[in-house]
Amino acid sequence: MPNGMFINVIIQDKIKKNKELAKKIIEVCPVDIFELKDNELNTKEEFLDECTLCDLCINIVKDDSIIIKKLY
Ligand code: SF4
Repeated sequence: MPNGMFINVIIQDKIKKNKELAKKIIEVCPVDIFELKDNELNTKEEFLDECTLCDLCINIVKDDSIIIKKLY
């Protein structure tokens, strides 16, 4: 099964380099979707479909900096 078949998690460029925010987002996600890669917040494609739609990451950014997109 291809990665991220059911859910895509989009991080807007404006927060990708904010390390403080990135740290909080990485910590909060229960299924380990986020990581710091080359000093930028990134998603791990192989984990995208594990997203539980818990909105904890969105509660941290409080705007559309992270978008959870259902592909089904
Ligand atoms: S909604 Fe929840 S499970 Fe999905 S990426 Fe955000 S924190 Fe992780």
